[in-house]
Amino acid sequence: MPAISKDKASEHHDVAVIGAGLSGLAAALRLAMFGKKVILLEKHYVVGGLNSFYAKKGVKFDVGLHALTNYPSPQSGKSSPLLKLCRQLRISLDSLNLLPQSHSRITFGSENLLFNNNFDFFLSQVEDKFPKERDRFQSLLAKMESFPAYSVDAEELSTRSILKESIGDPLLSEMLLCPTCYYGSARKNDIDFPTFIMLFDAIFRQGLARPEHGIRAILGPLTKRIKELGVIRRMNCGVETIKTEGGKVSGIVLESGETITSDQVISTCGAVETEALIDPPDCSNSPTIEGKFSIMESIFVFPGVPEDFGWDETVVFFNDSETFCYDEPDGLIDLRSGVVCMPDNYGEQVRDSAQKSKLRITHPANFDRWSELEQPTYESEKNLWEERILDNGMKYLKNGKEVIDSFRSKTTFRDTFTPRTIKKYTGHANGTLYGSPQKRRDGTTAFENLFLAGTDQGYVGIVGAMLGGIAVANNQILRPG
Ligand SMILES: Cc1cc2nc3c(=O)[nH]c(=O)nc-3n(C[C@H](O)[C@H](O)[C@H](O)COP(=O)(O)OP(=O)(O)OC[C@H]3O[C@@H](n4cnc5c(N)ncnc54)[C@H](O)[C@@H]3O)c2cc1C
Repeated sequence: MPAISKDKASEHHDVAVIGAGLSGLAAALRLAMFGKKVILLEKHYVVGGLNSFYAKKGVKFDVGLHALTNYPSPQSGKSSPLLKLCRQLRISLDSLNLLPQSHSRITFGSENLLFNNNFDFFLSQVEDKFPKERDRFQSLLAKMESFPAYSVDAEELSTRSILKESIGDPLLSEMLLCPTCYYGSARKNDIDFPTFIMLFDAIFRQGLARPEHGIRAILGPLTKRIKELGVIRRMNCGVETIKTEGGKVSGIVLESGETITSDQVISTCGAVETEALIDPPDCSNSPTIEGKFSIMESIFVFPGVPEDFGWDETVVFFNDSETFCYDEPDGLIDLRSGVVCMPDNYGEQVRDSAQKSKLRITHPANFDRWSELEQPTYESEKNLWEERILDNGMKYLKNGKEVIDSFRSKTTFRDTFTPRTIKKYTGHANGTLYGSPQKRRDGTTAFENLFLAGTDQGYVGIVGAMLGGIAVANNQILRPG
């Protein structure tokens, strides 16, 4: 990244964007496309936030990226949110080289529902496995279609209550809740109905894909374009306080002590996190409720391809308790439910002698419990849980129990992150994945020139965060009112 002259950075800017995660990058790019003078301030030394990348011992990792949702399947036509975001940011969809999923599965005890990027296939699975629910499921789909989920005023009803009224067999309700909660709920044991609909569309109606070169395929074009359009990007540049005066932001003080000024500010670091930066503290409004949901994820690297072990699926959402429990666990982690992802099962499997693949297993985890451990205990607990996660995850994969020993012996490298890692690299309070359960869809705050974008707008995931950033840029800054 080129050095920025101090003079240029300390000029007055039209907009300061806090955070170079996906929503911040998208907002900065959209604003710069319309001639705004933008400064992008990021605490970390790499872009991407919750969906960044790193390398360890020669292996490249994406931080998140199980799946890029909203695959523009032929059925979704031009209305696909992914196509919309490519149009808004003038990014070519072809440049992402999207590889579609093979197929995925929701597994609860002995019941399985498969899905791929053809929604009719998922419908046929529901009809086969839950024949008595056929009409009720169709009515639920009609209700979802008529609900204004994508509106900023959408009412945040409880999906659990709606499913209880709409579906007769509780098992089907639980199976629908599992992937949608894991891919975007900040609520304990539930998901708000608009987010459920958006994620149902994103996962089942449209589908899952992965750019051939992972998250770098998205971050690369975004950073290239913001540079071309003159956005000032400052990395290792945490915001210490947001100074306010008379209901407006008057300046942004960096950890270095420098002050930045701008007409408007977009913060993407979260509602609770943004409130903590406000100086003087805003005592006239009640604070946003903190989110608590976090995860632990272990990644196992092995030579060859998943098919060597008979694994042809892309994502497996699993649960083994009677009702799906989606909550902060009491202990360090909850093994009763989770997600297994095989990122190498997108597109055709490529096999060459150097081929290495990954198996990623994710579980709910408790931030406080991980945070209170001394470093040596933290490391040993991580190792211990890695083994348990692997043993447990194998129960949900084809021939898992038979191949576990050979898989374990072939694993060449492992990496694990905990809620504490998420907090360290993104600053999210409690290491949350989806922020606060209280969302601000229009991005407004108590301060007239301060807006929130991304996760706490209620638009989650890679596509959601980017569309959220674009929406705030469009509706609050480029054409307000
Ligand atoms: C393990 C994991 C797996 C995931 N898998 C998927 C997936 O498969 N598919 C999917 O669609 N989504 C996935 N997600 C979710 C997705 O990554 C997020 O929803 C999305 O990236 C959120 O983007 P954001 O811009 O809203 O926030 P963030 O990514 O959190 O960006 C906020 C940025 O602000 C910066 N920041 C914070 N405080 C300050 C400060 N004081 N000063 C300056 N900068 C600051 C942070 O460093 C960060 O870069 C996953 C997330 C994780 C963690």
